[in-house]
Amino acid sequence: MKNIESIYRDIEKKVSKKYCKVDGVKSCPNETCTCKKIAEIRAYTKALIPSGFETCSINDFKGRNLEGEKVLDIKSTIKAKKDIIKYCWDIDLDSEVDIEKFKKISNTPSELNKYSIIDNRRKQGNNLVIFGSGDRQMGRTLLASIVLKEVIKQRVKPGKHIENYNWVQFKSLKQSIIDDDKNAMNYQTCDWLVVDNISNPQYSSVQQQTFITDQIDPFFLYRSERELPTIFIFRFNILSKVNLRTLESNLGMAISDIVKNKQTTLVELKSSERINE
Ligand SMILES: [Zn+2]
Repeated sequence: MKNIESIYRDIEKKVSKKYCKVDGVKSCPNETCTCKKIAEIRAYTKALIPSGFETCSINDFKGRNLEGEKVLDIKSTIKAKKDIIKYCWDIDLDSEVDIEKFKKISNTPSELNKYSIIDNRRKQGNNLVIFGSGDRQMGRTLLASIVLKEVIKQRVKPGKHIENYNWVQFKSLKQSIIDDDKNAMNYQTCDWLVVDNISNPQYSSVQQQTFITDQIDPFFLYRSERELPTIFIFRFNILSKVNLRTLESNLGMAISDIVKNKQTTLVELKSSERINE
């Protein structure tokens, strides 16, 4: 994982000094102290979550961009929020009562954590697909950040946590796989992988298309077979008729199967009408 060690070294010094008044978590006299876990969680968050999204929570998802402008259609905002809440905490928001109840729970992180089912998602290999068309900011990265933060937070639980995670741009991932570089194996075998910024590919030839899909198919097949969850962020409407039909030829059978699998949670984001051209 990128730079995690140097980030961790820096953070663990600060955390142990602040919470336990010692120089480094190894010097912490409290046997069951959580300072090591807090340092780990902060280090992973810093290393993996895109800048600007490190402190965000589900309550920050309001269908608006960082400038506060409305970017999502209201229905789509509510639906996407419900889907993410269901995926992370298995709470159904079907009524006003549920919504009020969730608001209360989500304001207390320790309370919300009691509902977390993210470890089951990992065990069952439940993939998550977040999609919406356009290059505009829509909240795709925000939602993926919220989920990955929930995943990382599980380190606070007792016991050893050997889970590892990665966040990669689809373009770099393709290059890593083609070059078979040192990152490719990490991406393929990590417990959780976020694949960001997947555009609908434009190929210059059938040969190129076949070459790319032949390269990425075994990668995602490997993850599916071992039930390792992947969070996909698509920048196009994967459910439109034409895209659904070309998904397999454009991005390979493995990705197409994941999108069409009933166990996969699909979260669709739609632009608000005002900015739709
Ligand atoms: Zn401590």
